[in-house]
Amino acid sequence: PSPVYVLGVRVDRLTQRQVLAALRQILSSARAGSRPPCQQIITVNPEFVMAAQKNTLFRQCINQAALVTADGMGIVWASRLLRQPTPERVTGADTLVELARLAAEDGYRLYLLGAAPGVAEIAGTRLQELAPGLKIVGTYAGSPAPEEENEILERIRTAQADIVCVAYGAPAQDLWIYRNLQRLPASLAMGVGGAFDFLAG
Ligand code: UDP
Repeated sequence: PSPVYVLGVRVDRLTQRQVLAALRQILSSARAGSRPPCQQIITVNPEFVMAAQKNTLFRQCINQAALVTADGMGIVWASRLLRQPTPERVTGADTLVELARLAAEDGYRLYLLGAAPGVAEIAGTRLQELAPGLKIVGTYAGSPAPEEENEILERIRTAQADIVCVAYGAPAQDLWIYRNLQRLPASLAMGVGGAFDFLAG
């Protein structure tokens, strides 16, 4: 089905399984061919929709992403009210764990960017418990400041990452990915909000 637009913000009407299949497709076609530009996945919750009302760049970033999931029941309910229901909630936290399992199975290399120093390392260890065999090829707190972008992109390049998860909070993380998409040396990038903190407990 075509996406539903909640107050002008796109949400793809996909189940968790379908989201995972789409991610698998993005990663396998990047591995197979001449590497296409990095693809962005965004997990939209009601706060994203509200922020995107005033922030047109954020709205553009969401509406142009490769994949937009319905992160939370608020979005599912809104889609029902609009009579273009999305089948279920697909949270960022669940998607991160599923993505880690997919990466472990198929040998994709994960880079964890953001959160306070030390947090991504602990989150990575936790992800490896949930997804045995997962390759975490780098972690770095850094910051979303534009002055740091070149250095961060170089770190990701050196690590030869396939997937980059960015924890700078919304909308900073998603805009960071969006403005660096053309030169991000990875196949897939996703903003994960507070997921590293959550995983690190
Ligand atoms: N964060 C960061 N640098 C920043 C701003 C935020 O590393 O300049 C991290 C913060 O440590 C946390 C995450 O980004 O791990 C944001 O979590 P939050 O729960 O605020 O994000 P949300 O889930 O609300 O988007």
